[in-house]
Amino acid sequence: MNVILVGPPGAGKGTQAQRFQETHSIIQLSTGDMLREEVASGSELGKQFKEVMDSGTLVPDDMIISMISSRIGKDDCKIGFILDGFPRTTPQAKALDQMLGEKELKIDHVIEMKVDDDAMVKRITGRYTCAQCGAGYHDEFQQPEREGVCDHCESKEFTRRDDDNPETVRSRLQAYHDQTAPILGYYNKKGVMETVDGMAAIDDVTEQMNAILG
Ligand code: AMP
Repeated sequence: MNVILVGPPGAGKGTQAQRFQETHSIIQLSTGDMLREEVASGSELGKQFKEVMDSGTLVPDDMIISMISSRIGKDDCKIGFILDGFPRTTPQAKALDQMLGEKELKIDHVIEMKVDDDAMVKRITGRYTCAQCGAGYHDEFQQPEREGVCDHCESKEFTRRDDDNPETVRSRLQAYHDQTAPILGYYNKKGVMETVDGMAAIDDVTEQMNAILG
């Protein structure tokens, strides 16, 4: 099963994709994570990516398309994948169709996570992760049981994404509405679109997704 999650930053795509990776044995492919790995490597390319990401705009289509194309070609994707953060533009959606067509694969479901923009700013600017195991927390909605200690691995180190500040978040939301939302029409015409209420509690969203994906 091959799935795409679409929604503005903060909609919960990463959280739901991670859950599906665990419960449905499919691979989560996050272009944002791939880009952050390149940034963390300290390479020249990573420095270019960081500049774009910190401005809240999108990395050029050709770079993203070649990155995802080599990832989808790997053996572990044969069991199926859930794309989180890709495609983000119509050219990316068309390139994805072409690369899948060449492998005789297709997208089975595109799920839009519908949310309120104003709530997203609050959701994103308060989020942070454990630096050791990557568990996600939030200043207001999901604090660790013991203050300053990760519930899962007991690490006391946490990190925040550089692009999770109010100014960059507004640019990211704008990029979503201008460049990404048009792909919803593209997939609607193909008859593979479904919508879930991303404002619901995390477990409720998972249930809505289970109802679609089985
Ligand atoms: P994310 O982790 O999905 O919120 O992505 C963080 C940032 O990485 C975005 O704001 C973009 O600058 C960049 N990015 C991630 N995925 C894509 C994509 N498919 N196309 C262009 N830029 C992307």
